[in-house]
Amino acid sequence: MDEPLFPLLSLSRLRMGTDGTGVTTLIAGAGCPLHCRWCINERLLREAPVESVSAPELIRRVAVDDLYFRATGGGVTFGGGEALLHAGFIRRFRALCPSAWHVSVETSLAVAREQLILALDAADLFIVDCKAMDGEIYRAYTGGDIALMRGNLRLLLEEAGPERVIVRVPYIPGYNTAEDQTRSAEALRAMDVTRLDLFSYVIREGGA
Ligand code: SF4
Repeated sequence: MDEPLFPLLSLSRLRMGTDGTGVTTLIAGAGCPLHCRWCINERLLREAPVESVSAPELIRRVAVDDLYFRATGGGVTFGGGEALLHAGFIRRFRALCPSAWHVSVETSLAVAREQLILALDAADLFIVDCKAMDGEIYRAYTGGDIALMRGNLRLLLEEAGPERVIVRVPYIPGYNTAEDQTRSAEALRAMDVTRLDLFSYVIREGGA
């Protein structure tokens, strides 16, 4: 079998309390179907040459923190860009990495349903940035169609269960209000989301 390759943008080691559980290495991959207004990575995602790595090679690099992962219940978080564009790779990584490692995926869920299905049993935790639950705000901010994200979120909640899903709901200056954010949270609770994270984008010059 040909090894799937991952377009690696960066590895960020020894993270605590920002993504995933315990000590985490954030693995950022290239590519994203959305065009969020305040994306700090947009230029990097679309223009930078990236390194392609196989799962065994990536595991070898990440394993430098194996002891930290085991001691804290941590592991790796796939982000980006859109991590689920690389669902086949994540499956391969999960199959080869130590079972003690916790694997999380950060996603907007703006991907084909098949990609999500491929990743369902490869990740312990899905961290979803839903952007907004209002179709017009969603389109204005991301350029995408909310129906895709909603359908995938429903599937994810049914198949993985609410315990394996955290949904992040941003306040996005210039695009929504605190009331919109609250309405999004209510809509998500009505879909049986139990783990919500309401937060604010911090807008710096040139991006969020
Ligand atoms: S989903 Fe994330 S990576 Fe993609 S454009 Fe939006 S902010 Fe950028």
